[in-house]
Amino acid sequence: MFLLLSLSICGLLLRGDAQDRASLWRGNDRSGRCQYTFTVPSPAEASCPLAANPEVEGLKARLSLLEVMVSQLTVGDTQPQGSQQGAGARAQPELQEMLNRVTRERNLLQGEKERLEKELEGLQMRTEEMRRETERLRSRPCPPQTPVVPHSPSHQDRAPIRPAGASSQMSHLMTRPNSQRDSSSLTDSAWQYGAAPGFQELKAEVTEVPAPDGNEDKTGCGELISVGEPITHRKADNIAGKYGVWMQDPEAVLPYGPDMIWRVDTIGTDVRQLFGYDDMEQLSKGFPSKVLLLPDPLESTGATLYRGSLYYQRRLSRSLIRYDLAAEHIAARRELPHAGFHGQFPYSWGGYTDIDLSVDEKGLWAVYSTSKAQGAIVISHLDPHSLEVKRSWETNIRKASVANSFIICGKLYTVASYAAPNTIINYVYDTETSQGEAASIPFKNKYGYNSMIDYNLAQRKLFSWDNFHIVSYDLRLGRQQAN
Ligand code: CA
Repeated sequence: MFLLLSLSICGLLLRGDAQDRASLWRGNDRSGRCQYTFTVPSPAEASCPLAANPEVEGLKARLSLLEVMVSQLTVGDTQPQGSQQGAGARAQPELQEMLNRVTRERNLLQGEKERLEKELEGLQMRTEEMRRETERLRSRPCPPQTPVVPHSPSHQDRAPIRPAGASSQMSHLMTRPNSQRDSSSLTDSAWQYGAAPGFQELKAEVTEVPAPDGNEDKTGCGELISVGEPITHRKADNIAGKYGVWMQDPEAVLPYGPDMIWRVDTIGTDVRQLFGYDDMEQLSKGFPSKVLLLPDPLESTGATLYRGSLYYQRRLSRSLIRYDLAAEHIAARRELPHAGFHGQFPYSWGGYTDIDLSVDEKGLWAVYSTSKAQGAIVISHLDPHSLEVKRSWETNIRKASVANSFIICGKLYTVASYAAPNTIINYVYDTETSQGEAASIPFKNKYGYNSMIDYNLAQRKLFSWDNFHIVSYDLRLGRQQAN
């Protein structure tokens, strides 16, 4: 059989070779076994119908399977989507309800805000009414049985120089007799609370006054040797007394006596009230005998008194004003050339202390700075009548680096810190020689926020305003050096 088959194959092969229509192929299969393949062209078909390739079939099957899977997944995706849509549809009313609730709450809050705004407005109106009422009560004329402060002949003589309308300006001024000690209706608001404890404090502090020093030069100019302990005269419980300035005229003019003490609270944007006290005792008790309303508002804790006038810097300007206390009107007004104001060149504590005026044995001084001086302290000697600058000195001391300054006998002294309990007077500049030098004189800030320090020629002490407290310091001055 095998032989016949071989012969047939050989025959066919030979015929195939002869006719070129059949072929025999021999080769090893994968297992190495010899395999014969005999091919014969189809006599009828020009080409084979597409043979079913197992791999293609497999791919087709896998593709179909994938299609089924995709279809299932698509269906699966579609179904959950449908479910989500259903859930969304179900959640929509809840969301709507939530939105409605939030909207209601927002409307309630809006209403509450409007109510609070109206309440605030009402409170502001009431505050304004109370302020006006206070003003009205203060400006109410004294009862007929209360004697009015007698005008001295000199005052009468000066009356005609008042400008037209001065009488109406005076209508809001309050006058109390010096002998009247009734505090029922005449206490300065910043000081009317806790008067008794304040007075107790004063009495306690008074015992701390150092004994007079025999080496002190009481008669002429001398160099500062030391500063005594702070002596408290009064404490304010009202925010208006947080900082301010207090003064005494070294050359008082009638009708005010030499013991008269004056005070300005400098908190606020419209500082106009000038409180006068007959003496230190009345100041300590908080009983002013005079309240003047300044025609122009004051800025800075740098005001001072001299020869019957208050000198101060007008708010939001470099204008200096001389306000005549007896005539109760502005006697002079002049710009301090190039001076910074309204926080441009303050002392280090940062309030409105741009222009610091003071008086010493040599007259009226202004301590300030200019853009040209780039923040360094400029000292100007002023004409007390016209406010003209007579002479200026430019120092090397940066104004913002020191807490405050004061001038004694033409020498400027700067205080290093306004807050440190134990600080020093760290620099002295002599206008006589135009020279400055470092110093180290101990100085105490008892209450930690010293907003004003000035030499007071009348008492030859330092006057200071330290965190609601009116404070003074005794001084030791060396004898005047022979020139
Ligand atoms: Ca000062």
